[in-house]
Amino acid sequence: MRVLVTGGAGYIGSVVSEQLVNDGHEVVIYDNLSKGHRGAVVEGARFVQGDLLEADQLRQTLNDNRIEAVIHMAASSLVGESVQEPSKYYHNNVVAGLVLLNAMRECQIKRIVFSSTAATYGEPEEQPIRETTPTNPTNTYGETKLAFEKAMHWFERAHGLRYASLRYFNAAGATEKCGEDHDPETHLIPITLQAAVGKRAHVEIYGDDYPTEDGTCIRDYIHVVDLARAHILALDVLSERSAIYNLGCGGDGYSVREVIETARRVTGKEIPVRLGPRRPGDPAVLIASSDQIRSELGWQPQFQDLGLIVESAWTWMRAHPDGYVNHG
Ligand code: UDP
Repeated sequence: MRVLVTGGAGYIGSVVSEQLVNDGHEVVIYDNLSKGHRGAVVEGARFVQGDLLEADQLRQTLNDNRIEAVIHMAASSLVGESVQEPSKYYHNNVVAGLVLLNAMRECQIKRIVFSSTAATYGEPEEQPIRETTPTNPTNTYGETKLAFEKAMHWFERAHGLRYASLRYFNAAGATEKCGEDHDPETHLIPITLQAAVGKRAHVEIYGDDYPTEDGTCIRDYIHVVDLARAHILALDVLSERSAIYNLGCGGDGYSVREVIETARRVTGKEIPVRLGPRRPGDPAVLIASSDQIRSELGWQPQFQDLGLIVESAWTWMRAHPDGYVNHG
């Protein structure tokens, strides 16, 4: 299939593009490089540096490449920033998304896979979280992702668009070529590994007075390769229907302390920690029920063990000590 990947020069986008190319799809990456990296554009994919808000360039890219489906991953995705700057998030995640939906409509492209998020649920009362758990975002990031999900729903009603919305839990890990290189880095696993190599003096634990066994927050970490595989499966389902799926490994999840302990084991480094205050808006526990995508699409995570996830991130970090800088 001929697929446009928006945000394909980003962390998850690069891994999705890598799998699409490996599976024989024709891939066009559309990315404005505001957060992505030129060096993260995978071999075998065409790259167009462009902004979704540039409707003419976007339409031309869709037409010139005879695109059949879009995987839409370009977005602003920092929870804290989204609360400080709601306008930026509405602009990049909703307004730009509507430009994309309109361009798709004009070019008669009816299939879209969308990167959504567990943040659409807010702080739900039930765990594990199901797709039927009520959505109630507690930050602008989750709110704007949910707004785009709803827009797709109404475009389906009006124009026959088919969408698969994938609500990610905590993506982590790397492939040999593609890994996590954010600036600023806010995610626990890369921060912990940066502390392991001495790039940071310590990891700050954001609170240990949560109602969990060791008092730190519990999250559902999913390997980026397993996440990417779900996008490829979701592309297929669009020939029949639209769908919304949670994507996590389920189980009991891992606490912040367990993640740091795992990183110590994998790296063999001490990794100093400091206890800090809670980070505003962090729910105590976020665990996905991914039963639906398992039973309907046959999706199965291959890397459920946190050790394997951390190990892949560690291998990538050592091979790319400066991230994508100096790596083309
Ligand atoms: N966390 C932490 N210290 C850090 C970064 C994160 O204690 O330097 C915690 C955070 O409070 C959350 C968990 O680690 O409970 C995962 O955070 P991350 O930002 O990686 O993902 P999120 O769950 O926010 O999407």
